[in-house]
Amino acid sequence: MDGPTSRPARQIIETPTIGDQFAILYPLSRNLDLRLAPFYDPGRARSERFFGLLYGETAGAVEQDLETVAAGPARFRVTRRHGVACQLAVAVADLDLSAAEIAPLFRDVGGSYNWRRIAGTDRLSAHSYGIAVDVNAAIGGYWRWSGATEGAVGTYENKVPWALVEAMERRGFIWGGKWHHFDGMHFEYRPELILYSRLMEGAGQ
Ligand SMILES: [Zn+2]
Repeated sequence: MDGPTSRPARQIIETPTIGDQFAILYPLSRNLDLRLAPFYDPGRARSERFFGLLYGETAGAVEQDLETVAAGPARFRVTRRHGVACQLAVAVADLDLSAAEIAPLFRDVGGSYNWRRIAGTDRLSAHSYGIAVDVNAAIGGYWRWSGATEGAVGTYENKVPWALVEAMERRGFIWGGKWHHFDGMHFEYRPELILYSRLMEGAGQ
């Protein structure tokens, strides 16, 4: 297994090693100031080899293991591999879907499984592996729609309630709203990053 590399951020995001995936600690706090540092995108670096082995290397392989998880009116198609569908269902069950701040998140949702490249890149999206869900895009926001330049995104107004973020994090999903290149609608199953953050915080970091 390859460790973290000291390359420019743009190269790391294109071809990360497994070690690179852990190089930026995913913050478990509510501090959104950390993301102001350019390319502070914990979890945005993904080794296609790693995810292909875990969830399938082709659309056909991934699609064999998809399940539908309901969240109010939303229907998310995610993989059952490595407990993803199960963990998503439990995170949703922890939420009060009728609460005024939660209900709109699951209306007009952005999507879930979709074998596709990330906009403007050659890289497979986390949605290709059935491990990501997008809640209401109008509430979540996305750095490319903000008119920002890559590496110089700055602040944004977060409208996603912490109750959702923390329910998802408890079940192993990271939130794209903590990234410099923010993707506030996006949640992605990365239990290895959540666990690593818990261990490092426990170690006093
Ligand atoms: Zn997404």
